[in-house]
Amino acid sequence: MIIPKAITIDGPGAVGKNTVGSLLAKKLGYCFIDTGAMYRELTWKALKQEVDLADQERLSNLAAETEYRLLQVDGNERDCVLLINGREVGAETRLEEVERSVSIVAMVPGVRTELVAKQRKLAAEAHVVMIGRDIGTVVLPDSDLKIFLLASPEERARRRYLELVEKGNKVEFEQVLADLKRRDKLDSERQLSPLQPALDAVIVDTDGKSVAEVLDRIIEIIDKRK
Ligand code: C5P
Repeated sequence: MIIPKAITIDGPGAVGKNTVGSLLAKKLGYCFIDTGAMYRELTWKALKQEVDLADQERLSNLAAETEYRLLQVDGNERDCVLLINGREVGAETRLEEVERSVSIVAMVPGVRTELVAKQRKLAAEAHVVMIGRDIGTVVLPDSDLKIFLLASPEERARRRYLELVEKGNKVEFEQVLADLKRRDKLDSERQLSPLQPALDAVIVDTDGKSVAEVLDRIIEIIDKRK
């Protein structure tokens, strides 16, 4: 029987990795680690410090200086939080300016080297559900279970649009769709660790499926492996 120590979930923006991944982690009693939040937080910090985004050395140093830690309440993986320099990630990582720049920061080789090493260290500390773009291919290539979530750009833009409107943001659907497509292009066409499924990943198409249906499908995949 194989009980995976690490489950990787990769896929494009707004495909539901966060919702599905955190629910899955809760259900299994695993730590949930959102690596997108690590790139977003770094981008926010760089913008705040007015770092030139073309300055790869400074961005890499910023990544090297950042401390990432899992806080397991009472040593319990179920109640586990990722702390970045001692703080939980806040809403600032979802700001439009971060959204616009994060894929540029994530392309920097020195940034990726730092963050990938730190993500591996985090994964070694606990049972984890780790979500991102390159988790199955680069960060944890030996993971026993790799999921790759898919949905059409229109479906993903619809989900992100509803999420933003619910939070009281004034946004245009067409703009949300254009931003997602731009990020998809940057993430898929970059040289280093582009967004792509690992050869041994199970592809789950989420178009037309509810969160509960996607979660059930993943649980079914896990059960079949036992
Ligand atoms: O998943 P999320 O949309 O929060 O990720 C934000 C950005 O961070 C992505 O568009 C991508 O550029 C970058 N990222 C990455 N590798 C990861 C996770 C995120 O390059 N493992």
